[in-house]
Amino acid sequence: MQRFDTIVIGAGVIGAAAAWRLAGRGRTLLLEQHAFLHEAGSSHGGSRIFRHAYEDREHVRLAVAADALWGELEAATGERLLHRCGGLDLGTAGHGELDGIEAALRAEGRPVERLDGAAVRARFPAFGVGDDVEALYQPDAAIVPATRAVATLLRAAAAEGAVLRDREPVRAIDAAADGVEVTTPAGRYGAERLVVAAGPWLAGVLPELALPLRVEQQQVLYLRVGADARAFAPGRMPLFIDRHGGIYGFPLFERPDAVKVSAHEGAPTIRLEDRSDRIDPERAAATVAAARRLLPGLDGELVGGQTCLYTKTPDERFVLDRHPEHPRVVLAGGGSGHAFKFGPVLGEIAAELATHDGPAERATDHPIGGFAVARLGTP
Ligand SMILES: Cc1cc2nc3c(=O)[nH]c(=O)nc-3n(C[C@H](O)[C@H](O)[C@H](O)COP(=O)(O)OP(=O)(O)OC[C@H]3O[C@@H](n4cnc5c(N)ncnc54)[C@H](O)[C@@H]3O)c2cc1C
Repeated sequence: MQRFDTIVIGAGVIGAAAAWRLAGRGRTLLLEQHAFLHEAGSSHGGSRIFRHAYEDREHVRLAVAADALWGELEAATGERLLHRCGGLDLGTAGHGELDGIEAALRAEGRPVERLDGAAVRARFPAFGVGDDVEALYQPDAAIVPATRAVATLLRAAAAEGAVLRDREPVRAIDAAADGVEVTTPAGRYGAERLVVAAGPWLAGVLPELALPLRVEQQQVLYLRVGADARAFAPGRMPLFIDRHGGIYGFPLFERPDAVKVSAHEGAPTIRLEDRSDRIDPERAAATVAAARRLLPGLDGELVGGQTCLYTKTPDERFVLDRHPEHPRVVLAGGGSGHAFKFGPVLGEIAAELATHDGPAERATDHPIGGFAVARLGTP
């Protein structure tokens, strides 16, 4: 049996990042059930939002740490992974829904501007918002090319000596007081510690915990811009989250002729075996209508789409903790539709939990108090 210091299950953004942070600390094996960079989980696609804009200071701090680690990865690999284009949070004027985000950003010393509807229209002509809208603008929000970022994390892990194996599903985990063994169709591997970063499969990989995770099938749409594409170019158009219309989206980035738009809420809960690549036309029509209202210069023709899975915890906070029964096993997941931006720091925390003994909060300097397994009320 081959032995390692740490085994990581899952090559999504969290597992890939954990392998990168672990590789320099000891013999590391990463096992992925599908082909690397597959499209059946949560971390594939051409873009994700990176922003510091959260209502609680802990998430702002985590985003600051992730920002630095994405930069470290860029420097180590020569890849550009944070494409700064600015970010706009749009809300209803006078409703105070952006106040918490603004306060948290200011408290952490992050740059942010408050704009009224007229200022949004004047500065970012793609947005046809009314005077009933107000916005927060964060200049340092960025687009992360998702699949490329995972590939870069894996490449960096391999460069540091991690052993990466794909098409090798972990079928069984045996955790004992002195080590962990996992079984795949190719054989058995032993390690001191195990990180389970199995995304939507997390609850199934650790059934004894009965984790209350809900998997949603999301869809993203590529909508053709109008004849004059200038207003949709990065630099003129920031990425955006529109609380008013319930959609979020990006400037021109992945495609030359279309912007990517999606709805964060309202996706169906699915069983993993029912996952499909099919775009639901009814939900797509609602997203297209909301995008046309917000972005009047959009042609709006649907030129492509992709599905992707959210793994939601009841409070939409992540799970980053040791297994309550087996302290050598670390859980890292429950991305709840917003974990990509934090990928490198979640991987780093998982690596710290796997390489330090003692209580979880003392293993890392990052704020993880809200991510404990115990809050989920598992057996
Ligand atoms: C449409 C969409 C848009 C999003 N937009 C954003 C955004 O703008 N900003 C943001 O920050 N976040 C965003 N997210 C969320 C973010 O992408 C996810 O939270 C993140 O990718 C989760 O990563 P993960 O590593 O936990 O899971 P995954 O990427 O699913 O990785 C888990 C991996 O584990 C493997 N695995 C599972 N079981 C086993 C096993 N038994 N053996 C071996 N391997 C196994 C799987 O095959 C998979 O590759 C979005 C998500 C979606 C779906």
